[in-house]
Parts: sequence; structure tokens; C-alpha cells
Amino acid sequence: MNIHEYQGKEILKRYGVRVQEGITADTAEEAVEAAKKLNAETGTSWYVVKAQIHAGGRGKGGGVKLAKNLEQVRDIADQIIGMQLVTKQTGAEGRKVHKVLIAQDVYYPGESETKEYYMSVLLDRATGKNVIIYTTEGGMDIEEVAEAHPDKINKEYVDPAVGLRPFQASKIAFNLGLTGPAQKEMVKFVSALYKAYDDTDSAMFEINPVLKTSDNKILAVDAKVTLDDNALYRHKDFEALRDTNEEDPLEVEASESNLNYVKLDGNVGCMVNGAGLAMATMDIIKLSGGEPANFLDVGGGANAQTVEAGFRIILKDPNVKAILINIFGGIVRCDRVANGVVEAYKNIGDIKVPIIVRLQGTNAEEGARIIDESGLKVYSAVLLKDAAEKVKEVLAMQNA
Ligand code: GDP
Ligand code: MN
Repeated sequence: MNIHEYQGKEILKRYGVRVQEGITADTAEEAVEAAKKLNAETGTSWYVVKAQIHAGGRGKGGGVKLAKNLEQVRDIADQIIGMQLVTKQTGAEGRKVHKVLIAQDVYYPGESETKEYYMSVLLDRATGKNVIIYTTEGGMDIEEVAEAHPDKINKEYVDPAVGLRPFQASKIAFNLGLTGPAQKEMVKFVSALYKAYDDTDSAMFEINPVLKTSDNKILAVDAKVTLDDNALYRHKDFEALRDTNEEDPLEVEASESNLNYVKLDGNVGCMVNGAGLAMATMDIIKLSGGEPANFLDVGGGANAQTVEAGFRIILKDPNVKAILINIFGGIVRCDRVANGVVEAYKNIGDIKVPIIVRLQGTNAEEGARIIDESGLKVYSAVLLKDAAEKVKEVLAMQNA
């Protein structure tokens, strides 16, 4: 689950990570009030208006702007709230901005130069460790830095059982070229950041830029946080951080029915039990000349309700030209699933796209018989190969 910058910063603050302070607003009037409050709390008289969407690259897309007085705060907030913000990460359609963060300006002049760094903490699956990725080349696209200056990207691996050791934090501060008070601040920053990542069971904390201010403070200007969905049950309070505006409506509906659904761009909808089988099914669809319209894992206990919920979600995708149901009857018996398919079909009614059902495992033949005798426009297949052939046939029929 992704969360907004302002929510990520709230988590960071709880762990003692210094952040660029800010207050959220949903309207231009609220933005002015937020700025006044921020002025009272921090003394800042310049502000940054930041669009809150779940995508990076907001600055370049016109979603982060500096305001030098309250009038500008109002004008910029008015312009950003409600805009369809297009960034490198949103796709061409962009994302609608519902909320802005009014933040203090932290690039003020002072005794030394401001300097931007990049730092992220994430899980490295290959080594089974956490890794802190950092570079002096902050502020810009990390992908571009990785390509142009791979030597400037540093990695510090952290054994999750041991945690971040003090010498590692010192090494990071040293490699970033920091000395004196800024060096001390960075050690504190890294340690607190790692703790925040670890305690919240997050999949990623990405801070770009980490800023050294002109008075040698180290703080997080941005925060891109991905919480691990599989650990959310341990953090009940995180449920409130979810913003369904930022999610695909079909994916939201699927998660309400406890279905594991990811929307894709193809034309063959698929409903499968088990993630591995779902991946294999998507491969088979591609091999037969189709493109999967989605990933959908109905889980171990496929029954009439889950099948129906899955059907409804797949059918809402206008690109779907055929549906392949591929269920392995292990714990759940194929005849039950077949009855579920027939029942769901009847309940939904008026399904125009052909459906190919492949049931394998316990009571597979019985399942196939139920499908064949139902009189509905459902084709049964026992072998995965046959199912793929049928997908090919129905797609060809539609193109003819
Ligand atoms: P992103 O573009 O989505 O990554 O959003 P960021 O929060 O990283 O902000 C984008 C850019 O806005 C930063 O890299 C900075 O250059 C700039 N920016 C952010 N905060 C301030 C600020 O307080 N003052 C000034 N002058 N610029 C800022
Ligand atoms: Mn950023």
C-alpha cells in the first residue's frame, strides 16, 4: 500500500526523523490558513505548495511550487487543487489532485550551501537483507543517476536480525562527504529512518531529496513510502492512511471481496486459484496470442460467491473479450467450482463474452460435465493446452 508524502512524513516524525514541516489543505482558503499557522510555528514566510498524489516527479509536472507570500499560496493552491497532474509516474491520463501540503521553505540562504542527497531503505530479496541506497546526487531522478553515474550509487546492506549498526550510519555520513554538525545530524537521520522503516514493516522508504540546509540541518523534503500489505494486520492504524482515490476502482472492489486482483491492459480476463497458477495462466494466454486483461487470484476457497465477485470485476473491464477460468481443485472440489460458475453466470445474466473453464484435480470430470450440461455459453477444457486453444479460437472468431 502506498501512502501520501504528508502521511509518510508523519510516520518519520514519530521516529525522530527531521522533516520539512507542513500542513495539508483541501481548498485554497485552507491553504492560506495552513500557511499562517506554519508561519506561527516555524517562522517561515515562504512556502512550498505540494500536490499530494501517489506518484513521484510532481515537481517537474508542475505539482510543487514555491509561494513567497500568502497571496501566492492562495493562487498556487487554487491552481494545483483539482488539476489533473501528469508526471513520469502517472501515465498520460495523470492523477487528479485532491489535497496539497503547504510546507515550509527549507532552501533558505545561510552560512553554507544547501545540498540535496538521495536515500532509500528497502528490502533486497536477493540477499534477504535490508538495503540503504544513497547518493550525493539527490533531487533528480534516481533512475537517471543510476544510468549515468552508477559509481555514485552506494549501498549499505543491513542484516534485519542485527539492525543498523552505528558504524554503518557513520560510514554513510562519511561517504556523503559530511563533516562537523551535519555529519552528526546525518548519523541521527539514517538511524531514525532505518528504525521507522523497520518498525512499520515497510517495503520501502524513499527520501529524495534528503536536504542539508544552509544551517547544517539534515531533513526529509520528500517521503515516498510503501507499506507491506502482508504486514498491515500488525498495524491496524495504517488502514486510515489508505486513499482509494489513488487506486484503480476495480482493484478497490476486488480487495473488498478479498480477491487478489491486478488490472492489466489485455483482452483475456482470467480467474485462477493460486498466484503461481495465475502467472502460468497468463503465460499460456500470451502463448495463444491473447493478452491477459488482469491477474486474479481467488485464493484457496473458491466458491460461488468468490467466483461471482471475480466475474463481476472482470466483466467491468471493457477490454475483456474472453474469460479463462483456470482452477485447480485441491481443497476445493471442481464440481463445487463448476456449480459456482454456473450459478454466478445465471446471477449476473447477459454475459456477452465467451468463457472457457478449465478445471483440474478432484472431481474434474464431474465439473466438466456440469459446465457442458448447463446450456450456457461456457466452454470446458481439462488440459491447460486445450484451454489455451479455446482462447485462441474464440479470439479468432471475434476477429473474423
Ligand atoms: P517530487 O518532484 O514528486 O519528487 O517532489 P519533491 O517533494 O521531491 O519536490 C520536488 C522539488 O521541489 C525538490 O527537488 C526541490 O527542488 C523543490 N522543493 C521542495 N521543497 C522546497 C523548498 O522548501 N524550497 C524550494 N525552494 N524548493 C523546494
Ligand atoms: Mn522527490
